[in-house]
Amino acid sequence: MKALHFYYGVMGSAKSADAVMKAYKYHENRIPLIVLKSAIDTREDSPVIKSRTGLRFPCKLFKPTDNIFDIVGEPKSGMVVIVDEVQFCTSKQIDQLRELANQGVEIQCYGLKTNFQTHFFEGSQRLLEIADDIHEIESVCRCGNKAIFNARIVDSRVTLEGPEVQIGGDESYEGLCPVCFEKYQHEDLPKLGQKSDTNLDKSQTQTWRQESDTAENTK
Ligand SMILES: [Zn+2]
Repeated sequence: MKALHFYYGVMGSAKSADAVMKAYKYHENRIPLIVLKSAIDTREDSPVIKSRTGLRFPCKLFKPTDNIFDIVGEPKSGMVVIVDEVQFCTSKQIDQLRELANQGVEIQCYGLKTNFQTHFFEGSQRLLEIADDIHEIESVCRCGNKAIFNARIVDSRVTLEGPEVQIGGDESYEGLCPVCFEKYQHEDLPKLGQKSDTNLDKSQTQTWRQESDTAENTK
């Protein structure tokens, strides 16, 4: 059955990595595929979906004023459409994706559920209303709890100030649990330790070496 799917998760939950892996699979199996990225700013020269792990796949960019039918063109039998950054879609564009799914196109949407002020993005809200199914891609906060909020970090603090989308600002984003989201509005977020990262890398390397030695010895 063809359906409209919504995969949501916080910043850093590997949504784009999942989208790229799927795109490669469809591409390898020669399934008609269109990969889209909803963007506020569409000036990129060679648009790609890219994950933090370095995986990437070329895509078409579209902006809130575009009509999805014009971008996708005539639906082909068995066609799949993957949409990344779907939160930037308008409600109307989500309705257009719904219509395409009704016409037999498999639609897989990836994006954030809520903005840095913990409220729905327009596109995500509409998807939660009309998607056939909703999947959460879970992520862990730096404290170990489940991360559910997308914190905007400015000068080491979580901020609730500013427009929903800030283009070219010097802020960063991090998925946090509700407790840390509240706490770090009032105190500085600790820098993620260089030292402990290095230790982790070393012990990890050692484990791999031991495992590969064992594998060698058992040959
Ligand atoms: Zn936390």
